[in-house]
Amino acid sequence: MSTSPTTHAEWTTFAASLKIETGLFIDAQFVAAKAGEHFDCISPSNGEVIAVMAKGGAADIDAAVASCLAAWQDGRWHQQAPRTRLAIMLKWADLVEAHSHELAALESMDMGKPISDMFNIDLPEVLKTIRYFAECIDKVEGAVTSTDASAMHLITHEPLGVVGAITPWNYPMLMAVWKLAPILAAGNCVVLKPAEQAPLSCLKLAQLFVAAGGPPGVFNVVNGLGAEAGKALALHPDVQKISFTGSTAVGKLLMGYAGQSNMKRVALETGGKSPQIFLPDLYDLDAAIDRAIGGIYDNAGQVCNAGSRLLVHRSLHDRFVERFVARTDALYRMGDPLDPATTMGPLVSQVQKQNVLKRIQRAQEQGAQLVLGGNATPPNAAGAYVAPTLFTHATQKMAIVQEETFGPVTSLQVFDTEAEAIAMANDSIYGLAASVWTADLKTAHRVVGALQAGVIWVNCFGDGDMTQPFGGYKQSGNSRDKYKDSMLSYMQTKSAWFNLA
Ligand code: NAD
Repeated sequence: MSTSPTTHAEWTTFAASLKIETGLFIDAQFVAAKAGEHFDCISPSNGEVIAVMAKGGAADIDAAVASCLAAWQDGRWHQQAPRTRLAIMLKWADLVEAHSHELAALESMDMGKPISDMFNIDLPEVLKTIRYFAECIDKVEGAVTSTDASAMHLITHEPLGVVGAITPWNYPMLMAVWKLAPILAAGNCVVLKPAEQAPLSCLKLAQLFVAAGGPPGVFNVVNGLGAEAGKALALHPDVQKISFTGSTAVGKLLMGYAGQSNMKRVALETGGKSPQIFLPDLYDLDAAIDRAIGGIYDNAGQVCNAGSRLLVHRSLHDRFVERFVARTDALYRMGDPLDPATTMGPLVSQVQKQNVLKRIQRAQEQGAQLVLGGNATPPNAAGAYVAPTLFTHATQKMAIVQEETFGPVTSLQVFDTEAEAIAMANDSIYGLAASVWTADLKTAHRVVGALQAGVIWVNCFGDGDMTQPFGGYKQSGNSRDKYKDSMLSYMQTKSAWFNLA
């Protein structure tokens, strides 16, 4: 197509015309899995098979790690001048931008994300992340510490070697790039195991890295299942660190695999159950509700920091619920992800749809009151669609308050005092994010100090930039993505003491 697609029909035609890579990407080549196995890549909007992917296993992980190790040992990436690597990373970003229509269509077909979200959120964030970490490459500095004249002491930062990245399906490219950009900028080689539900865009990212001048073997991708390829990567003795985004349950397994193998470092970005607290003195209730809605329903609620626990002061309750329901109806149009008018697509799979429906049923059985959604049908039964859902009369012990749903479902609880709201917010195994809405700076400062979460928003939700470290407290993880310090987490410190006497 010579011009960019704009209408639903044009996007559908464009998506159908794309050449989809289905192999594993090792040493800059697409290859079949050694065992010759495959898995289907299924469209969540209509259940059709989009592609038949090579299914990598332990032998393919061995080959991908060996390729990375060879690249690491001959220094073809980390021994290049910092500004050469910086230029390659910037060229990579330029190529991603030049292929944005293709990447957007792949991701939209594969994961079900509305094509408009790809251009408003995912792609701009992917580009910003690669460019930010590219610009960090020649800003890493060591130190010469104070000694007496008989010695000199240098502290330097060196890459780790071969790093493994294991990523989820909710923002397939963006979650991968939050790992890949700092890993590569730090000078490491990487094997990526993308989520089996949505691997297509990551294969393209790797191909574009090589097209930008990235040396073969520096960035390899092995598609496959978590319990096979993911586990083999996490157990591999030549991998120095695993960087993971996904569920808390799998995060715990990875810590075990590290202990069983080579004690590799394990960086975890895991689940969340983020509270949004609405205090009675907030500036503008209507504006706050619009942001609260986006905080839970964007990306069909498949967001680790989704604000899925609304904590609303009793004095605001009736107005809050009435407007929340009306505005959700106005703000979301469910439909085919390739339709530019769609603002909520399907969930990633039928499996995820059934998980979410079971949680909706359980909330009703436990006594929460369904006031919005709760159904699976719109806009078609073959797709993995679940309507935006709100439960009121939720109580602290209910599963809908304690457990991650990872779908467009939220609970609402009322409180009478600030202390009560903070206690409810903190009563969770998770601590990824939280928001507080108040017009009083002193109140905001006090509540921020009391909340147990790694990311807190005051009078907003989800705002931020690359300068904001992103990660959780408690069982939401042990590391931070974004921000320049995350690049240092893919390096190790060397202390060299020179005897000059
Ligand atoms: P998941 O844990 O099921 O899978 C994530 C990745 O781990 C996939 O690539 C999967 O194949 C792999 N995996 C599964 N079992 C494995 C094993 N035994 N060994 C090695 N790898 C294995 O998570 P998901 O369902 O893909 O994603 C949703 C989860 O991700 C949610 O819990 C969400 O909160 C979390 N998430 C967290 C963040 C964050 O920054 N904290 C961001 C996005 C998503």
